[in-house]
Amino acid sequence: MVTVQKLINEEGLRVDGRRLDELRPIRMEVGLLANADGSAYIEHGKNKIIVAVYGPKEAQPKHVSLHDRAVVRCRYHMAPFSTDERKSPAPSRREIEISKVVREALEPVIFTEYFPRSMIDIFIEVLQSDGGSRCAAITASSLALADAGIPLRDLVVGCAVGKVEGKLVLDPSDIEDKLGEADMPIAFIPVLGKISLLQMDGMFTEEEFIKALNMAKEACMKIYALQKQTLKEKYLQVEKEVRESLTLKE
Ligand code: ADP
Repeated sequence: MVTVQKLINEEGLRVDGRRLDELRPIRMEVGLLANADGSAYIEHGKNKIIVAVYGPKEAQPKHVSLHDRAVVRCRYHMAPFSTDERKSPAPSRREIEISKVVREALEPVIFTEYFPRSMIDIFIEVLQSDGGSRCAAITASSLALADAGIPLRDLVVGCAVGKVEGKLVLDPSDIEDKLGEADMPIAFIPVLGKISLLQMDGMFTEEEFIKALNMAKEACMKIYALQKQTLKEKYLQVEKEVRESLTLKE
């Protein structure tokens, strides 16, 4: 017997109790890896993602270097235990695609022209996935780049809008992504007012597309405030530690 699961109840609430325009809970942290130049961790709903950034460093191998700017490389990888069924550790087509689109979403904010013949590596490890992992990975990667001290025009924020039972839903979870009719992840650069990633799985009408884009941008601005808060907290803590060490030396 096939059971049909309802994703939106009579009160207009979703399976996890959220309203249609509500984000999942988000928590971020920066500078948690001692051996990387920059790092960040994000929990976005049940997604748990860690990002490490290395660079800018000398480009290796030399033939990949560019004479006028830094090369940015990105690897999105899902741990075998990150999905409900064990995922093969070998890179899948999906991971190769996501690595490319995440790099392209981040590149417009990096002042790569300041670092000719060098290289910036971004390693994204998905420890637990729950739909929208590419968006959460973008949000965390831009924080890790900032944590590495790499000059940026702005942070980049990722968020998706889906369509479930004919209704637009903000920030779809895994089940909404799988059983829903459409999913549109975007990456937004607030200061530039530009979209650096826009993908679409399924169909929206023109009206739905415009509404979805506005919903996603609005949500991105909320996530952006959290990103800035996370960076501020980290650097206030660093400042406090420096002040304390100076006082001890006196
Ligand atoms: P995103 O995570 O950016 O939404 P997709 O739409 O491709 O990317 O994937 C949606 C969700 O499907 C993922 O977040 C993850 O929870 C799940 N998923 C992706 N790949 C696999 C896999 N190989 N095995 C099991 N679940 C997967």
